[in-house]
Amino acid sequence: MTDTLDIKITKTTHSRLQETDFTNLVFGRTFSDHMLVADYADGEWKNFEIVPYGEIAFSPAISALHYGQAFFEGIKAYKHADGQVSVFRPDKNAARFNKSAERLCMAELPEDLFVQSIAALVDLDRDWIPTEAGHSLYIRPFMFATDPYLGVSPSTTYKFMVLTGPVGPYFTKPLRVKFETHYTRAAEGGFGYAKAAGNYGGSMLPFKKAAEEGFDQLIWTDAKEHLYVEEMGAANVMFVLDGTLVTPSTRDTILDGVTRDTVLTLAKSWGMPVEERRVSIAEVVEGAKNGTLTDAFGAGTAATIAPVGSLNYNGEEYTLSDPLTREFSQKVLKTLDDIRYGKTTDTFGWNYIV
Ligand SMILES: *Cc1c(COP(=O)(O)O)cnc(C)c1O
Repeated sequence: MTDTLDIKITKTTHSRLQETDFTNLVFGRTFSDHMLVADYADGEWKNFEIVPYGEIAFSPAISALHYGQAFFEGIKAYKHADGQVSVFRPDKNAARFNKSAERLCMAELPEDLFVQSIAALVDLDRDWIPTEAGHSLYIRPFMFATDPYLGVSPSTTYKFMVLTGPVGPYFTKPLRVKFETHYTRAAEGGFGYAKAAGNYGGSMLPFKKAAEEGFDQLIWTDAKEHLYVEEMGAANVMFVLDGTLVTPSTRDTILDGVTRDTVLTLAKSWGMPVEERRVSIAEVVEGAKNGTLTDAFGAGTAATIAPVGSLNYNGEEYTLSDPLTREFSQKVLKTLDDIRYGKTTDTFGWNYIV
């Protein structure tokens, strides 16, 4: 059942739109004029408000800061040539939002409230959506615990917020990637499948070390043996091996990506064989050696389709084909863009029109 959400709107008296440089967007640095805030207390969500983007106050004792009761989502909105605005598959993010909430013992948010909150905010700041190719409005919903209490127990109050900001392409060149065989992102029984803040804090040192070794990204491997592929940075990873689209199956160590699902759905609709299963480093390396690995890319909302240029395993480097010559990922990119920017029929019903 859908209740219409009552959102109190306070508009900014000074829009920053005119002073914003849209030609030089750095991911996550530019914020639109407004943000959404809502509170959870006494067992219900209330006080949905859109206010000018800015600082907020809370107790320094909140468990989000001390024990990591915090998680987020990432979604994008696009402007079509006719001025229409669409958000890409927000229902999927709404469902995942609640999976994260459940795992972190936090309050769930009814899916229609999640989607309506985003739609209202995007609608108000629609002039912030860039129209250039590869550009979009990044939407960052998140939730955190707000009880002023240092005991290690679930908070009884939470804040739900949404920020938005214009973004350009995340990666602009093929990535030099290594298989990470020392550090672990997620273990069985853990919360790798949740978009929990702590998962990203823990990944920063491995990233920093990989960057110091000259890599753009790393591919996480299983916690037990470091022999199986899990994800690439904060994106899912997909390969075309011998004409089959192959990707690690989702489990509790893997984030169930919306982009991943989108690519799998497209591939199946084109009659391409698809396998979701355990993927070993060995078979990927073998494919890189004998030429049966014809495509490799990260798939995520922020990164979109990020081609892997080369793979490094234990110091051995394997250079892959020029991404521009890769049939599958090029077709996926083009089809995705055509759908998201409203250039073709949205056969799958993925665009939520604002
Ligand atoms: C967000 C994220 C993804 C990609 O998910 P999308 O829904 O496609 O954006 C994949 N892996 C991790 C670890 C992530 O945080």
